[in-house]
Amino acid sequence: MSDCIFCKIIKKEIDSKIVYEDEYVVAFPDINPQAPVHLLIVPKEHIESPLEINEDNKDLVGHVYLVAKKLASQYGIDKKGYRIVSNCGDDGGQTVHHIHFHLLGGRFMTWPPG
Ligand code: 5GP
Repeated sequence: MSDCIFCKIIKKEIDSKIVYEDEYVVAFPDINPQAPVHLLIVPKEHIESPLEINEDNKDLVGHVYLVAKKLASQYGIDKKGYRIVSNCGDDGGQTVHHIHFHLLGGRFMTWPPG
């Protein structure tokens, strides 16, 4: 999508420190980090939100979790634990309408989230 900020990052039209990339996803630090480690894992395909996960693209979600595991180990947050969050729609707190997964770690996460 031409006006999607994450599509622009994926296409390298906007500068971002991409820390991981493969055929399906990219990962880069969140511009407004909520934890010592706060990366966004973003599928390259422009899928609006978790509501658009279906039989055809469901494997992408498993792939994201494997990438998260790899990054968690790389960033040293795998031992104490981490959180993966995907906000969906307005009530879910989604502000960028290109599906993404927050990988947060490096501090104790409280529950419930606000
Ligand atoms: P959401 O609120 O949709 O779950 O998460 C969107 C996230 O994207 C927010 O945490 C926000 O800080 C981050 N974000 C928004 N615009 C940019 C940007 O241009 N670059 C980066 N690195 N992160 C962004």
